[in-house]
Amino acid sequence: MSFPLPDLPYAADALQPHMSSTTLDLHHGKHHRGYAAKLDELTKDTPFAKMSLEQVVRKSHGDAKATAVFNNAAQHLNHSFFWTCMTPGGSAAPESLKAALAETFGSFDDFKKAFVDAGLAQFGSGWVWLVENDGKLEIVKTGNAETPVAEGLKPLIVCDVWEHAYYIDYQNRRADYLKTFVDKLADWEAVAARLSAK
Ligand code: MN
Repeated sequence: MSFPLPDLPYAADALQPHMSSTTLDLHHGKHHRGYAAKLDELTKDTPFAKMSLEQVVRKSHGDAKATAVFNNAAQHLNHSFFWTCMTPGGSAAPESLKAALAETFGSFDDFKKAFVDAGLAQFGSGWVWLVENDGKLEIVKTGNAETPVAEGLKPLIVCDVWEHAYYIDYQNRRADYLKTFVDKLADWEAVAARLSAK
């Protein structure tokens, strides 16, 4: 396999009660596994098979002949990153991160509200991100498989707002899922580490 499925960085039941093992088994074990397997199939014996996942995403982005490659590569990359954005019970935001977010968004709480609102405003399937763009912090939402990595932006955290990410645990209540993500699941220590890594 050129693009293997990464293991979850925690047990499938470690995020309960905020994200169930049923959701993670399906989301990681079926949806994400499906994207990785499809990408292997699509890129077999092509130049893409020798590239890193990130290179495949950048190279196939906007190429009408490589739409399926892009969709599966970007979904593989987005999900691989998403798993690392959560930790059991969440982690407290370091002061340095709170200060950086306060500078742009007013306060850490204002940032969390803006992030949740952006996730709610993404109509249909997609992702909501905090990215670093030329040294500035921005909230970005993307539809379907689209990813700021394709635009050369540095992702700091992402939440998956496809229904498959939350429907079993939250049904149609995307707002509750997003609020739980920022308050009980997000690994803010990891965000701070990404922000300080240049
Ligand atoms: Mn997903």
